[in-house]
Amino acid sequence: MTQRDWTDLTDSVRVCHSALYATASTVVSRPGSNEVLLVDPAWVPSELAGLATDLTDAGLTVAAGFSTHAHHDHLLWHPGFGASPRYASPGATALAERERPALLTALGPGWPTELTDLLGRVSATDTLEPWGELVIHNAHSTGHAALWVPDDRVLLAGDMLSDLELPLLQETGFAAYDAGLTALRPYVERAAIVVPGHGSPTGAPMERWLADRRYLDALAAGTDADDERLANPDMPQAHAANLTAVAESRPAE
Ligand SMILES: [Zn+2]
Repeated sequence: MTQRDWTDLTDSVRVCHSALYATASTVVSRPGSNEVLLVDPAWVPSELAGLATDLTDAGLTVAAGFSTHAHHDHLLWHPGFGASPRYASPGATALAERERPALLTALGPGWPTELTDLLGRVSATDTLEPWGELVIHNAHSTGHAALWVPDDRVLLAGDMLSDLELPLLQETGFAAYDAGLTALRPYVERAAIVVPGHGSPTGAPMERWLADRRYLDALAAGTDADDERLANPDMPQAHAANLTAVAESRPAE
């Protein structure tokens, strides 16, 4: 088993990234404890097994799991993480249950049953103390939740504030995304580091937030989005879907 490439962002927050879409798996610990919160472990089966091995080798026990939202690449688990409780927001939990067949399809072929059985087995919560504070909104996906780790001033942003992905708003629409981004702002302002669900953590959180703000403003104004993320794989299609979502949300004249 190859050891995965971990980055210690702070004393309590470490992250590693999947080969697929640079999906972040994040571990949050508490001072003096070997019990950790595991957020969005991803992604392919060999990587999940590697994560389990790494945690064991580091002497860490998974006390709880957390899924930032109900998309297939954020609802994964591995038997090696143990049988600890797994959580998501109430809205994301309901969505994961309702959309389970589609989520399994989205994983693609070749997944062992021991992993598909564990997809999306989350329970609803609106609090994640003592690990941090949940910021629950409906941008990107119903019940999407960021996790604010106050002692370290780290914001785990889920599928927002990414340097790879544009805001993806086709699922819940422009207004929900706008409101979600606004809800994140006070946390971003205080944050030392923002960790997006895909792409690179940043020590310049407001720049990331403003990039998303500018993109949304351009969408709303119907002007060209001058956004370097448009050059990334799948993003032209995502941008087209966003334009459709905005057009559909405009009242008919
Ligand atoms: Zn997502």
